[in-house]
Amino acid sequence: MYFDYTATTKMDDEVLKTYIEVESKYYANTTSLHLFGQKCNSIYEKMIKEINNILGLENGKVIFTANATEANNLAIQGLIGNKIGKLITTKIEHPSVYEVFKHYEKLGYDVVYLDINDKGIIDLDMLKREMNKDVILVSCMWVNNIVGAIQPIKEVIDIVKEYPKTKLHVDGVQGICKIEMNFDLKKIDAFTISAHKFYGPKGLGMLLAPNTIAFEKILFGSNAQEGIKPGTLDLGLICASAKALKIYYPQTSKHYEEVKKINSLLRDKITNDKIIINSDKECSPYILSISIPNILGETLVHMFEEKEIYVSTGSSCSSKLAKPEKTIFAMTNDEKRAKSLVRISLSHLTTIKEIEFLASVINNI
Ligand code: PLP
Repeated sequence: MYFDYTATTKMDDEVLKTYIEVESKYYANTTSLHLFGQKCNSIYEKMIKEINNILGLENGKVIFTANATEANNLAIQGLIGNKIGKLITTKIEHPSVYEVFKHYEKLGYDVVYLDINDKGIIDLDMLKREMNKDVILVSCMWVNNIVGAIQPIKEVIDIVKEYPKTKLHVDGVQGICKIEMNFDLKKIDAFTISAHKFYGPKGLGMLLAPNTIAFEKILFGSNAQEGIKPGTLDLGLICASAKALKIYYPQTSKHYEEVKKINSLLRDKITNDKIIINSDKECSPYILSISIPNILGETLVHMFEEKEIYVSTGSSCSSKLAKPEKTIFAMTNDEKRAKSLVRISLSHLTTIKEIEFLASVINNI
């Protein structure tokens, strides 16, 4: 039983069909000058238009990358460029954002990591206090990947937009196709998503830049994708990812309601009072983080695995480390709780039967 949809999802059959079809028919290089290459290039351009249309954008830049990790790196480093000044992010970003800011800190930049409250929500007053005209970049995730806390992006936009020179990056990976967007995407300078989180293929991230602003180049090579992410494009991955977005983005609300029901059923069925539920009821229903103090998260994952239940300790990138998980630690200041974490993640595909079995295993662990 798979409860690790936050780590990745299974590719949708229709999406896989698109991938195979495009890979077998349209394999020319989109930069080749011959007719076949130009045909492939026109499909690539059509996909960019389609992605813009789905997301309600007009002429937004869409840079295809290997994954969201790469998209986050290109966005943050590209927006900072060679500017000197202050940087603001949060204490609970995914490593693909957090570690980039740690790197800039080592280079001597003044980096502020916003505090969060006990529900995992960033401190907007702190953001207001820290903002000034020297801030080059603010980066704040939309939905936290450990507990599912939904950040107040609309308010972040309002605060940051008071400072016209400051750029805003939002890691949208755990929000897209899961949570209805209640903010204006056009007001964000760089927004990143990853196709494998919404039933698309692994190996494709997107860096969306709705305002078509220029990123400083980090990678050097051809002029493909305006030189921001040079190299030969994989049209199959691009078309399959656009297809996944086309299928799942319009179903965001419907799937949200379904998963919310499944999530509350699971909460109701967890009756063992040794289990601490870390995710607040206002969190994304797709994630339910629990702690069982005195048992390491890694041990718990293997205990669940014995019952053929697949869960996670948190971010897949740090799952092998017995360090306190930083989101839970920032929320609770409780090292034990932050080490004994299991992240259960749900989908519209999760069944009531699966939830009942999972709950019985949790209660008896
Ligand atoms: N950002 C968040 C919030 C994530 O949850 C993840 C992956 O779990 C990433 C970024 C990185 O995504 P990718 O696996 O596409 O590199």
